[in-house]
Amino acid sequence: MIETNTINLLRSLVSFDTTSYKSNLKLIEFIENYLNKLNIKSTLIYDDTKNKANLYATIGPEDIGGVMLSGHTDVVPVTGEIWDSDPFNLIQVEDRFFGRGSADMKGFLALILSRVPEMLQANLSRPIHLAFSYDEEIGCVGVHRLLDIIKNNPVRPIFCIVGEPTNMQVVTGHKGKCGYNVIVNGLACHSGQAPLGVNAINYAAKLIVYISELAKEKSIKGPFDYDYEIPFTTLHTGVLSGGTVVNIVPDLCKFEFEIRYLAEDNPKELVNKIKIFAEENLLPNMLKVSKEAGINFEKKVSYPGLLIQHNSKLVKYIKKLLNNNKHKKVIFGTEGGLFQSKLSLPTVVCGPGDINQAHKANEYITLDQLEKGGKFLDSLIASLNDDFSL
Ligand SMILES: [Zn+2]
Repeated sequence: MIETNTINLLRSLVSFDTTSYKSNLKLIEFIENYLNKLNIKSTLIYDDTKNKANLYATIGPEDIGGVMLSGHTDVVPVTGEIWDSDPFNLIQVEDRFFGRGSADMKGFLALILSRVPEMLQANLSRPIHLAFSYDEEIGCVGVHRLLDIIKNNPVRPIFCIVGEPTNMQVVTGHKGKCGYNVIVNGLACHSGQAPLGVNAINYAAKLIVYISELAKEKSIKGPFDYDYEIPFTTLHTGVLSGGTVVNIVPDLCKFEFEIRYLAEDNPKELVNKIKIFAEENLLPNMLKVSKEAGINFEKKVSYPGLLIQHNSKLVKYIKKLLNNNKHKKVIFGTEGGLFQSKLSLPTVVCGPGDINQAHKANEYITLDQLEKGGKFLDSLIASLNDDFSL
C-alpha cells in the first residue's frame, strides 16, 4: 500500500518548525482539528508559558484501558547543519522523504493520524490512546505533565508503544541518563603567587579524573547487559571551561558530566560517590586557603532507563504483530523509561525510520519504513477485537 495519506500528513507535520526551543502549538492545534473533524476530543496539557502542549486523546471505549501510542512532537535544531533542501518542506527523492523530524518522529505521528478513521471503524474492544509530548529532545521534559494526567485518570492504558525510529524492530531496553553541571569556585591571584590562590581548574581536573576512574571500575565490575554494544554503565565528562589568562590562578571552572546507566544499575550511588570524593578529598584543601571556595552540583537532564523482559507477554505480542521474532536494545533514550517507572506501564519502543538518519542534515525516512509502520498499525488495530487479550 502506498501511504499517500500518511505522506500528506507527514508533509503538514514537518512544515511546522517544532524545534524544542520553539512553540509546538500550531502542530498540536493541527492534530486537535484533525481529530475534532473525526469527533475525537483531545486534552491539551500546556507548559507554564502556554506556548507548548502535550496532547492526549482516546479512540474507542472510554471505560477501559487500552494501547497507548506515544510520540514526541518536537525536533532537534537544524542550526549549523547544511541541508540540500528546506528542512521544513518535505520532499521526496526516489523512495526517500527528506525533512526535519521525518524519521524522529513525525513519520510515526503521521502514520497514527492516517489510521484514525480505520480505528473508528474497527469497533475496538480496547481503546487506543494517543500521547503526544513536547520537549522530549531536551531530556524528556514535557511528558511529565502528561504522566501526571494519565496517573490520575480513572482509566489507565495497559501498555505503551513508543514510536521512536527503530526500523520497525521491537526494542526492549535503553539506558537511563543523568547529567550534572559542576561549578568549582576557587580563589584568583597572580600566578607568581600560585600557592596563595585556589586553582579551580586543578580541582576540577582531580574530580574529572575521579569520574573517569569510576567509569573504568564500571567497565570491570559491571553490572553487564550484553544486548548493548557497550554492555555497562558509562560516565563521561563532555564540556569544560575555566580560566582567563595563564598568569592568573583561575577562580572558576565549570564542567559537565553524564552517566548513561543500565536500567538495573543505580546512578544515585555513583553521583553520591562523586560528591563524597569532592567533599572529603578536595574541599578541605580548598577551604584551607579560602572560605569562599566550593564545589557545587546542578542536576541537568535525567530520565530513567527502559527494560522489559524479552519473553514478556507484551514483547511476544508485538513480535507477533511484526511477524519478526528479533528484539534489540538501543543507545538512545526515550520517554519509555518514564512510562515504565512512573506509570508501571509495560512499554516497548518500536517505530519507523532509522535513528542513524535522524539528528543530522538531510534527515529522511524511506517509503518502505512508512509502509512497514503502516502494516504494523493495521495489525495492531485488527488485533484489538473481541478476542484481544494480553
Ligand atoms: Zn525522538
